[in-house]
Amino acid sequence: MTEQTLLIWHRNDLRVQSHAALAYAREHGFRIIGCFLDVESQWRAHDHGDRKLELYRRAADELQRSYRQAGLEFHLQVAGTYEQSIEHLHRLIERIQPAELALHAEYELNEYQRDCQVADICRQRGVRLRIFHDQIMINPEKIRTKADQPFKVYTPFMKCWRSLLDHPGQLAPLPDSLPEPLPDSLERQAQMRLQQFVAERLDGYSQGRDFYARSATAEVSSALAIGLLSTRQCHVVAMAARHDYNTEAVEKWRNELIWREFYKYISYHFPHVCRGNSFRREYDALSWNDNSDWLDAWQNGQTGYPAVDAAQRCLLVSGFMPNRLRMVTAMFLTKDLGLDWRAGERWFMQQLADGDFSANNGGWQWSASTGVDAAPYFRIFNPVEQSKKFDPDGDFIRLWVPELSGLSGRDIHWPSALQRTQCGYPQAIVEHKQARLETLERFKRLKTS
Ligand SMILES: Cc1cc2nc3c(=O)[nH]c(=O)nc-3n(C[C@H](O)[C@H](O)[C@H](O)COP(=O)(O)OP(=O)(O)OC[C@H]3O[C@@H](n4cnc5c(N)ncnc54)[C@H](O)[C@@H]3O)c2cc1C
Repeated sequence: MTEQTLLIWHRNDLRVQSHAALAYAREHGFRIIGCFLDVESQWRAHDHGDRKLELYRRAADELQRSYRQAGLEFHLQVAGTYEQSIEHLHRLIERIQPAELALHAEYELNEYQRDCQVADICRQRGVRLRIFHDQIMINPEKIRTKADQPFKVYTPFMKCWRSLLDHPGQLAPLPDSLPEPLPDSLERQAQMRLQQFVAERLDGYSQGRDFYARSATAEVSSALAIGLLSTRQCHVVAMAARHDYNTEAVEKWRNELIWREFYKYISYHFPHVCRGNSFRREYDALSWNDNSDWLDAWQNGQTGYPAVDAAQRCLLVSGFMPNRLRMVTAMFLTKDLGLDWRAGERWFMQQLADGDFSANNGGWQWSASTGVDAAPYFRIFNPVEQSKKFDPDGDFIRLWVPELSGLSGRDIHWPSALQRTQCGYPQAIVEHKQARLETLERFKRLKTS
């Protein structure tokens, strides 16, 4: 019998280990061919910035080299848009004539629609399409309330997720794939970062995660965003660590991974969020301020709120921002400046190396109180109190706002007008107390209209 060919289209699954489609291909003895289609115009249209594009390109190049080292064919092509990527794929299918095409499902609207078109092509060409749910752990169709509806609240979703998966054997590692990751590849580096986190920081995760100057979290989000790591790998190492470490910390970390799944699930079941709408549609009628100077000050870390400015400058330089600060700065944009959350969402996507539509949209809508299971609109963080609580010595501010580095731990969170002038640091562009009242008014007006 001649060996059958399986074509794997890699998208946000740029790894060779713990890869469902590769494991399947190996198990069934297929001749494997891989491909990746560079869709820069589409990425740009989705607001991905240079950092994320660089990651895609380097990871795709390494993937190609891994395949080739294992003697496997790999096609790396420049396609432009999703529409064009479908044409490229179609031509590849005609040329290779695979028995099967394998994909890891993606849940956001444009990606879902693209894959529906791919399914049509496969039907026309007589190619069997294999779709694996590997970007998240469970097919979103399989998690539903007792009334057979999609969940809209995180905690019952998480409990249902755990009831389906937290059994021995369910979260087992996948068998090793045929190609090996290259020694110094992004995939290897991500695996090492995960192992190092588990060995050194996981135990203290629940106490440390919000204290952002301590770097107590895993920092694996950019690896998860383009699939250098799989969520399965993260759960497997965390489960293995349960015996040695503080169980509460391990489960807390796993719950964060489940938040990531929850937001992808929301994009899938409520695709209006992918069209720029509020999850809670009534909030689309909110009237936002229109002030490009404020937006500019926020983007460039010049608001006069040290924690917000430190966060924004960190993002600009590094492409990363710790989670607590993402919440603080997102609330500041929407509740202190009264600017539309979509402007912040867009800016984050352009800057973040881990930019991921669902997590970003979910985080922004949570902070703006327009989202699924979001912060209630009257819960408004005070950026100065948040700074005192989670960066008590002001170390993070000192690192990113060096003009304030000479101030004491007490003054650095909110310097006096004189200190600001002496340090060359801006006066605050808004007053928190007043801005808070205006936001409460904005939401109340909507509720009574
Ligand atoms: C306004 C806002 C925007 C955000 N934008 C993004 C984004 O574009 N991409 C992104 O990956 N995350 C985003 N997040 C979620 C979170 O801030 C990052 O995932 C986290 O900071 C990454 O750091 P880590 O890998 O050290 O996380 P850890 O705390 O070690 O968590 C492990 C993993 O769990 C997932 N995770 C953790 N917290 C969340 C969360 N709140 N929501 C969804 N997934 C989570 C991430 O994949 C993360 O890598 C956003 C949060 C907010 C409030």
